[in-house]
Amino acid sequence: MDNRFWSARVLALEPYEPGEQPRMENLVKLNTNENPYGPSPRVLAAIRDAAGDNLRLYPPPDADPLKAVLASYHNLDTAQVFVGNGSDEVLAHVFQAFFAGRRQVLFPDITYSFYPVYCGLYDVGHRRVPLNGDFSIRVEDYQQPNDGIILPNPNAPTGCALPLTGIERLVVNNPDALVVVDEAYVDFGAESAAGLVDQYDNLLVVQTLSKSRSLAGLRVGFALGHRGLIEGLERVKNSFNSYPLDQLAIAGAVASFADEAYFRQTRDAIIASREVLARELAARGFEVLPSAANFIFVRHPDYPGADLARLLRERKIIVRHFAKPRIENFLRITVGTTEQNQRLLTALDVILPG
Ligand SMILES: *Cc1c(COP(=O)(O)O)cnc(C)c1O
Repeated sequence: MDNRFWSARVLALEPYEPGEQPRMENLVKLNTNENPYGPSPRVLAAIRDAAGDNLRLYPPPDADPLKAVLASYHNLDTAQVFVGNGSDEVLAHVFQAFFAGRRQVLFPDITYSFYPVYCGLYDVGHRRVPLNGDFSIRVEDYQQPNDGIILPNPNAPTGCALPLTGIERLVVNNPDALVVVDEAYVDFGAESAAGLVDQYDNLLVVQTLSKSRSLAGLRVGFALGHRGLIEGLERVKNSFNSYPLDQLAIAGAVASFADEAYFRQTRDAIIASREVLARELAARGFEVLPSAANFIFVRHPDYPGADLARLLRERKIIVRHFAKPRIENFLRITVGTTEQNQRLLTALDVILPG
C-alpha cells in the first residue's frame, strides 16, 4: 500500500472498526444495536416533505429548529444544546474541544472502543480504569488526578448502568475536570444526567437518535451542557464543517420528538423483549450481565465467544464479538424483534448440546 504521503499522525492511527453491514437475505442482524423497528411514520413523512426544491439551499448552519425542540424536550435553553452528524461526530468534537493534548483522560478499561481511537486522532493521553469483577463501574476509582472523564451510561458493550447518584458523585468529586456521559442507550432503562447540566458546569451529556429513536441511518446526535461547553463545541464545529446536519436530517429529527407515543411504544417493546431474551439465554446456561440497554452481553461457560459467533454466523445470525482481554468470551447481542430473538434461541438450541 502506498502510504508515503500519510502524515505521522495518520500512520499511527488505529481506526475504529464498525460492525459490519452485510447485505444478505434472511439475515438476523443483531450486531450493531440498531432498532429492530422502523422510525415513526411521522418521521418518514417529514423527510419526504423536506425532500424538495429547498435542497438547493444550505441547511440552517446551527440546525436551529432541532435545537429548539431538544432544548424544550430537556427543559434547557438552546444555548445549552449542541447538535452533530451522529453522536460519534459530537464525541469527536468533544475530544478535540476539551481533551486534545491533555495527559490523563480517564475511561473504563472496557468501554466504547471509539474513545481510544479519538485519543489517537487528537493526541490525548489517557488511562483506562478497570471495571469491577462484575463489570460494574466503581465511582471511587475515578478519584485520582485526571484531565477529564468520559464514560457511557449504560456502559457499552456491557449494558450495565450506573445510577444517577453515581454520575453526580463523579461530577461533584471532580469539579475541575469535565465529565462526559455518553447516553447512547439511556432511554432503554438508565437515568439520564440531562437534568443535572443546569447545576454543574463540568458535566456534558451526549445522546443520539440512532438507537432508541430508530434513526441510525439519519445520523443525528446531540450534547447538552453549560453554555461555555456548548460554545467550545461550536468553535470546533465551525472550524470543521458549518453544515453537519442536512435538511432531511433536521426535519426527520424534529418529527421524531413530535411522536412521543411511537417512541415509548417501540422502546417498551424492546425492553420487554430484552427481559425475555435474557431469561431464555440464562436458561441455556449463559451468564447474562444486567442490561439497561437494547443489547445484552453474555458468555457461556463452556463455549468460547469466537466459536459461538462463528457458529451463529453459519446460520445467518450475526452478533458482535470483541477479541479483547477480559471480554473475549462474551457476545454482545442486540435485542431484535420477537421473531429474530426466537431464531437466535432456536439456533443456539442446535449449537449447544442439551
Ligand atoms: C452507537 C453509539 C454511539 C454513536 O451513535 P451515533 O449517534 O450513531 O454516531 C455513541 N456512543 C456509544 C456508546 C454507542 O454505542
